[in-house]
Amino acid sequence: MADALDPQTRPADPACPQCGATLTYVDTEISSGAFRPQAASMPQMPIHYFDCTACKTCWKLGQRLLPDPIRQILRG
Ligand SMILES: [Zn+2]
Repeated sequence: MADALDPQTRPADPACPQCGATLTYVDTEISSGAFRPQAASMPQMPIHYFDCTACKTCWKLGQRLLPDPIRQILRG
């Protein structure tokens, strides 16, 4: 499940930890952190995905900004 959120309902675009450019928002996924159906009642945490247009690095923002190697590979 993936939804692009309005700018008002998501965090401001963060700066790229790698080069300092402002990241470009891509998508948001709501994840409970588990993949089993039983986890549906658990608190759900949105993961926001960002790309850096300057250094071409992919990032994801949950509780903090982390590299996103999976999308990085798909992008390459
Ligand atoms: Zn960058």
